[in-house]
Amino acid sequence: MEPIHIMELTCQELAERLKTNYGKGMHHAQALLREIIRHGNRDFHTADEFMRSPKLTRLLSRDLVLPEPEITRIVSEEGTVKFAMKLACGSEVESVVIPMRNHNTLCLSCQVGCRMGCRFCETGHMGFVRNLTPGEMAAQVFAARFIVKKNIKNIVFMGMGEPLDNFDAVRRAIVILSDQRGFDIARSHITVSTAGLVSGIDALGRSGLNVHLAVSLNASNDRIRESLMPVAFRHSMEDIRQALFRFPLGNRGLFLIGYVLIPGLNDSEEQALELAEYLKPLPVRVNVIPLNKTSAFNRETASDDDVHRFASYLEKQGVFVVKRWSRGSRLQAGCGQLGNADGASRVQDL
Ligand code: SF4
Repeated sequence: MEPIHIMELTCQELAERLKTNYGKGMHHAQALLREIIRHGNRDFHTADEFMRSPKLTRLLSRDLVLPEPEITRIVSEEGTVKFAMKLACGSEVESVVIPMRNHNTLCLSCQVGCRMGCRFCETGHMGFVRNLTPGEMAAQVFAARFIVKKNIKNIVFMGMGEPLDNFDAVRRAIVILSDQRGFDIARSHITVSTAGLVSGIDALGRSGLNVHLAVSLNASNDRIRESLMPVAFRHSMEDIRQALFRFPLGNRGLFLIGYVLIPGLNDSEEQALELAEYLKPLPVRVNVIPLNKTSAFNRETASDDDVHRFASYLEKQGVFVVKRWSRGSRLQAGCGQLGNADGASRVQDL
């Protein structure tokens, strides 16, 4: 009998597998997800449904692949927690739990390394190693809830990797994570971030997933963007803007625009005006995030005053701005810091 990977199935799919394999169905599928995914109880056989079905329990004990994420490091500072998960291939990925006012957000990784090569990002300097599977993405949520013991309500695909470069697996992970009988993370609480892959933005729009979209822009014009993000040579800012015009925003309201502030490079008043002009026709919220130190990109970080100043230039132009103070930068868990040689990592702040 083929193994049943519980973290790679929706409840409906699990019920179908139980029916085909053992003549059982939704009742036991729901019970399995309740015990294992919702309560983190790998001893599912202690639940009534399985106490009453010893034969099924025996077969499931043989066939079911339970979540067993191997967490190799957990570090925390002021509520922000970074953890590293070892994959079956021996690689590690990092995830960050970010405390918000009423809940926690998990920034999860979708690739080991990244092909995009953004200059300010440690993951980009690793190069691309491999895509994660949907189950490996779901395992990060399981680990955050039941090993790190945080109540995760929000997911942002802003950890290691470019989500739209691994879109099939990310799409599948979103379907699994938003299953109400399983992980139960509302789609309205899920954000996919991209460095600006236009075909991926279109694919996400067509998918009907109805999640939030964030674009990591970081520049007010193509020349600056090309100096920071090689992907800018493939997709101009106008290409991205056209993709956003096409995107079915639905009831999501706004696009999130990430802007890593780098003193002397993209933080002048003139650049703020240029950015405001570019964004004018779009419903956006701009998150201004101070650059975090990385080993490979030797620039000064932006001070709180720099962030205030740049944000106020934008606000004077009527742009909705949120100032982000980088969390976890001393843990190497801040924006652009995931995945460096000593196990630090990158997370884009919200
Ligand atoms: S910022 Fe994102 S897209 Fe760019 S290299 Fe880092 S992980 Fe990849």
